[in-house]
Amino acid sequence: MAESGRAPDPANMGVRSPNGGSKSSQGEEYEDIIHLEDEVFNPNMTSFKHENVEDLYELLEKLGSGHFGEVKKCKEKSTGTYYAGKFIKTRKCKGSRLGLDRDQVEREVFILQQLEHPNIMRLHDVFASKAEMVLILELIRGGELFDFIAEKEALSEEDAIEFLEQILKGVAYMHTRSIAHFDLKPENIMLLQKDVPHPKIKIIDFGLAQKIEDGTVFKSLCGTPQYIAPEVINYEPLGPPTDMWSIGVITYILLSGLSPFQGETDQETLTNVVAGSYEFDDRIFKQTSELAKDFIRQLLLKDPRDRMTAVECLIHPWIKPLNRKQAVNRSRSSINMKNFKKFNARRKWKLSYNMVSACNRLCRMKLLCNPMKDEEELFYSGDLLRPTSPLTERSNKTRRQCESDQEDEKTKPVTLLRRRLSSCS
Ligand code: AMP
Repeated sequence: MAESGRAPDPANMGVRSPNGGSKSSQGEEYEDIIHLEDEVFNPNMTSFKHENVEDLYELLEKLGSGHFGEVKKCKEKSTGTYYAGKFIKTRKCKGSRLGLDRDQVEREVFILQQLEHPNIMRLHDVFASKAEMVLILELIRGGELFDFIAEKEALSEEDAIEFLEQILKGVAYMHTRSIAHFDLKPENIMLLQKDVPHPKIKIIDFGLAQKIEDGTVFKSLCGTPQYIAPEVINYEPLGPPTDMWSIGVITYILLSGLSPFQGETDQETLTNVVAGSYEFDDRIFKQTSELAKDFIRQLLLKDPRDRMTAVECLIHPWIKPLNRKQAVNRSRSSINMKNFKKFNARRKWKLSYNMVSACNRLCRMKLLCNPMKDEEELFYSGDLLRPTSPLTERSNKTRRQCESDQEDEKTKPVTLLRRRLSSCS
């Protein structure tokens, strides 16, 4: 569910400068920090192509799947360059139960076209046919940041900050363009390559991102329970500060391997988020610097207006030490690797479990609707679901589809969110 409309005072959902200066002057002030480009639109990509994607690209192995369909590696025939092709099935008609709305995909494309930053996945090309849209994206080979970190024996705060700073630069850049991601979480923070001395962060998945125009209010029940801000659950206006809350959660997890608001159930998690109740358990945070805790405290604030902006984060002394003592503190403090590895293992398990549950739900639905056509099977191999059947692709779509269907109902937002959480997380 999302809505937008005119509002009397939209200003405070935007980006603040550290000294309280205006949003417009901030972009100029920090241009070098966040690497602003002159180009607003990707000059190499004009509009949707209508030819068959396979005429121009050779389709290779599958890289991943989402709510929408699949992502496949592909090779541009004319240049030999490799990309990632995101194949999104679109709805045949408004009432159709399968696929995404075309305008939803167009919005993702519109947003990606405006983003040209080293820490944000680039869009290269787009194709549209009657039933499908294909986004040709920069190929990101290094996997998820959290998986990369979980393989390490030890990591200092200083090392972790090298990644966090890149995430903040990407986020600061999109926020100065009035774009909020609204789904920042470990799964959407990847590495371009991992076998290099300083891996480069890439933020992916702009499927929930929105451009928040000046003077508009945007409300939505979107995101993932552990990472969503209180204003999402309360169905209040959202904006760049909503992303900053998620960054606070991600940093907390990165340092401790604990999720600050995680409850036994999604309902409990939501209650904790709304209450803003979390703590720094001394036993878990014993290797953590005071500056790191201060950084998190300034993000996990219930009032979005009180949170640091991405630009403010970039000049927080934990990220940019003001003196030698602060710098030394960062290199002596370390992340709780034992806990972090456990967190990451649980996270991966949960992702696989969710995928299997979604497929099983689809199987049941399919049997109910069409008992005579049960020719498809669910494949499960080891820890990971291997979605080798067309069924899986459909189940992914169904998950987002279910969300949309709920949204059509005239139900209270919080009830909708609860229902979404109990079915999808
Ligand atoms: P998304 O829904 O866009 O997050 O895509 C689903 C999955 O596909 C991700 O979790 C990644 O594993 C994979 N993926 C998406 N985009 C790319 C990309 N540009 N390069 C490599 N893999 C990708």
